Amino acid sequence: MITLEGVQKQYSDDVAIGPVNVQIPTGGITALVGPNGAGKSTLLTMIGRLLAIDSGTVKIGQMDVSNAKSKDLAKIISTLRQENHFVTRLTVRQLVGFGRFPYSGGRLTAEDEEIISKYIDFLGLRPLEGRFLDQLSGGQRQRAYVAMVLCQETEHVLLDEPLNNLDIAHSVEMMQHLHNAARELGRTIVIVLHDINFAARYADYICAAKDGQIVAFGTAEEIMRDDLLTEIFNTPVKVIEGPNGPLATYH
Ligand code: ADP
Ligand code: MG
Repeated sequence: MITLEGVQKQYSDDVAIGPVNVQIPTGGITALVGPNGAGKSTLLTMIGRLLAIDSGTVKIGQMDVSNAKSKDLAKIISTLRQENHFVTRLTVRQLVGFGRFPYSGGRLTAEDEEIISKYIDFLGLRPLEGRFLDQLSGGQRQRAYVAMVLCQETEHVLLDEPLNNLDIAHSVEMMQHLHNAARELGRTIVIVLHDINFAARYADYICAAKDGQIVAFGTAEEIMRDDLLTEIFNTPVKVIEGPNGPLATYH
């Protein structure tokens, strides 16, 4: 369980995130949704301690994130940020290998190499493993970054808009990979999603943010309601019954 209590970030006099109180259950996928500027990335980076909180506490299980040693934290939580995906003369395999850093300190063991191969295969990157990142499409690169984060083998995985740059087929595929990571590998995945319909289809829980606050938390059935989504996204939304569950329509 990830527990946020009174978590706040004050960027300026007029931009503040929180105070946020929320509990993210262990296991499965929790989707963080909401309009641009709602505070999703801020919340995610504070949970993973990539951004300091001004007040409140973040706990992962019993561990207080603010006081944890970096090495201990890196073994229980990994984060894929929304931006700053550096593109360099690094191969896919080398990038994924960075995920092992908290364990290997840079010297990869045979066991690390096996684990790297496992996640390269898991994301279908085997044919691309020797390619440099600047020789990949945006979507292929995105998959390589997700493989790196999963390769860290942390119980908790935070992903900020990992479907960016992916076409529909690869978005579906990515969500199936993440679903499998949650189910088969027992991970707790918190994922910022742009598309509420992907959240409804693949997430176990949906957490909706707006204006720096969490305004709703529940299952897809609980969140996929006309009034709630219209309010969250500031535009008329109508929920219809799709072939695989509720679908939001908005234009
Ligand atoms: P989201 O990910 O939901 O789009 P963000 O967490 O990125 O939202 O941003 C929330 C709010 O905080 C926005 O109004 C944004 O402009 C502001 N913000 C984000 N980062 C900074 C920063 N480093 N300095 C000042 N304001 C920021
Ligand atoms: Mg964001």
